[in-house]
Parts: sequence; C-alpha cells; structure tokens
Amino acid sequence: MKITKDTVVTLTVRIADKQGRLLDQSRGSEAYLHGGYGNTLEKIEAALEGREPGDQLTLQLSAQDAFGERDENLVRTIAKRDFPPGVKVGGVLELPGEQGQRQAFRVARIKGDTVHLDGNHPLAGQDVRFLIKVQGVRAATPEEIQHRHAHGEHGHHH
Ligand SMILES: [Zn+2]
Repeated sequence: MKITKDTVVTLTVRIADKQGRLLDQSRGSEAYLHGGYGNTLEKIEAALEGREPGDQLTLQLSAQDAFGERDENLVRTIAKRDFPPGVKVGGVLELPGEQGQRQAFRVARIKGDTVHLDGNHPLAGQDVRFLIKVQGVRAATPEEIQHRHAHGEHGHHH
C-alpha cells in the first residue's frame, strides 16, 4: 500500500547533522496519520507521499523547515532556590509561555545559584538530515481520521 491521504504510516526516523553525525537515535518506530493533519513536518509528508513499506529516504532540511530557528525569548534564568529540588541539566519543566500557554523548558545549564532554561527545541537553529525508513502503511480508521491522529501501538494513546 502506498502512502496517500488518510493512511497511517509507521516509520523509523533518525536525525543527523549536515555532516551525517547522528543527533537523535533514541526514537523507535512511530506512527502518524498522513494527509496534512500536522502530525509531522510538512516537508516530511511531502517526501513520503506515494512511498511504500521498505522505502528509505534521506531528507536534508534547513532549520526553518525542521525544528525552527532559535527564539532567544524562550531563554530564561531562574534562581535555583525558586526551583523544585532535584533540578538537573536536561530536565524539563512546564511554565507559562508568552501567550500564557504551557511551554516546555529544558534545563540548559546550572551556574552557581542560577538555572538557565531554554524553551527552544534542542535541535532548533540547526540544519538537519532525516534518515527515514517506511515500516508500514495501512488505511486509517474513521476514528483516527476524526481524531486527526494515529492510534495503536506506535500511535496516540488516550
Ligand atoms: Zn484519538
């Protein structure tokens, strides 16, 4: 079965930098509902259209098309004493963002009594290369189309 609108696609994705060094190999298989539902990057959807299980592709994306440019407004510092105990570099906490929405901030570093937080995606500002392998393609269920995401083993859990 080919990837078209309203199919559920199972992929393995590895992300490398321009030199081909792997940046993120922690991801296992993931499933998404294909067809403009915003479940994966637009450029990835476009490249996958019409592909089949077993297909492999390498996609070179600019920072803008991948995880976005860095936004220095998302860099904050907080005094360590205002922090819950056990704060560690690499930890994530949710704070209100600029529009009051919840925004995940990563603890970028801890210097003396100051905790530096970064709400940017860890790969923001980087040109990246996606190494994608199509594992499976199936028709989406009416419920998945209604929910606008994939269900099942590698999909969304309620
Ligand atoms: Zn659902």
